Amino acid sequence: MKSESLFPLDPNVKVRTRFAPSPTGYLHVGGARTALYSWLYAKHNQGEFVLRIEDTDLERSTPQATQAILEGMAWLNLSWEHGPYYQTKRFERYNQVIDQMLEQGLAYRCYCSKERLEELRHSQEQHKQKPRYDRHCLNDHSHSPDEPHVVRFKNPTEGSVVFEDAVRGRIEISNGELDDLIIRRTDGSPTYNFCVVVDDWDMGITHVVRGEDHINNTPRQINILQALGAPIPTYAHVSMILGDDGQKLSKRHGAVSVMQYRDDGYLPEALVNYLVRLGWGHGDQEIFSREEMIALFDLHSVSKSASAFNTEKLQWLNQHYMKTLDPAYVAQHLAWHYQAQGIDTTNGPALADIVTMLAERCKTLKEMAAASRYFFEDFDTFDESAVKKHFKSAAVAPLEKVKEKLTALEHWDLHGTHQAIEQTAAELGVGMGKVGMPLRVAVTGASQSPSMDVTLVAIGRTRTLARIQNAIDFIRAKNA
Ligand code: GLU
Repeated sequence: MKSESLFPLDPNVKVRTRFAPSPTGYLHVGGARTALYSWLYAKHNQGEFVLRIEDTDLERSTPQATQAILEGMAWLNLSWEHGPYYQTKRFERYNQVIDQMLEQGLAYRCYCSKERLEELRHSQEQHKQKPRYDRHCLNDHSHSPDEPHVVRFKNPTEGSVVFEDAVRGRIEISNGELDDLIIRRTDGSPTYNFCVVVDDWDMGITHVVRGEDHINNTPRQINILQALGAPIPTYAHVSMILGDDGQKLSKRHGAVSVMQYRDDGYLPEALVNYLVRLGWGHGDQEIFSREEMIALFDLHSVSKSASAFNTEKLQWLNQHYMKTLDPAYVAQHLAWHYQAQGIDTTNGPALADIVTMLAERCKTLKEMAAASRYFFEDFDTFDESAVKKHFKSAAVAPLEKVKEKLTALEHWDLHGTHQAIEQTAAELGVGMGKVGMPLRVAVTGASQSPSMDVTLVAIGRTRTLARIQNAIDFIRAKNA
């Protein structure tokens, strides 16, 4: 039989991988890691990456889920050379292959009723046999194809399927364990395992990287590929991701959707770096640029054992990338969080400056946006404990004096603002903190911020002076 290529298969491309999600929900971290490994393997080998949406389960697949997966892939910056292809658009092709298989005797129609199959299963169970179809219809020609039927693949009965899993090593399954798989249902729709086979064939897939939950499908798929005369790809089954308690990662461990990580304030670079290390490594190196990952990634170094998700490590990576990537780039991601938090950044410092000021102090972009609201918005309340500690009546004199000095500054810059604070402290004969802390609460509303000179410069003169005056009025009113 012939494959029907979906796109021109460049003979110079030696590796072609795919990511084949079922659009039944968001892109979760397990899927994202599989996609990443598949993508990296293609890139490492100057190959191609295909995206295929396995939407044949019409009841569970939704266009929203497809959109969510595409959005997740875009956010992670995993692009594909071919696709996205949709299985629901290829039913004609699958059926064409099934019809040819019927003609060639590689598959057969099965007219068995539900009742008969149930009886069969029941009696097999009673005899402690593995439930499997008994080929009742293989040589029964008494039916007409107009009668309701399914199509079954004629699985070999002898020997075994052996494959060398790139992650798990040699795997052997006896054909005696396998059933004559239904490849077309009574309603005429092809079944999941069959669609995967035809797609991997038509897309010239050389390496199938997927979750270990598919390991049982592999021998069945190999048998069908073999019957079709199709090349057998290399399979790599990647282990599960567990939560920190050793259970399968699920919502109760925190975020599992890739886009939730965006919402929680992570950079895609951090999540990608985290995921690549979760189950793969190169010595004890923790930080990998995209280029390094591509250069070093290899399926053979992917771990066979399950890996546990560790949010602290992800946070550490996130902070690393917030500190080291170009602030202007980080600012593009930060902008999303201001919008999400309803902070209008039109009036205020450049977002890249916020990144430079706050990367050291925040673990996520969400935190950074929340912690920098005062750069863009005025406020009339102050943090309560900061008020108690720093807005005693003794704070009025330093605030008035520093305001005077700041007003008189010729240049609103780091040196000038710093001097204004220093001179105020010196002239009043108090420590810098007695000036700096009330000033900090006055201009930021709380007692945590980057250094005062940096903060004042970013807030700007007009706003600073107005806020100091507000604070003075507030303290006076409070103590009147
Ligand atoms: N559609 C399957 C899933 O989302 C993947 C199948 C495959 O990679 O072969 O789990």
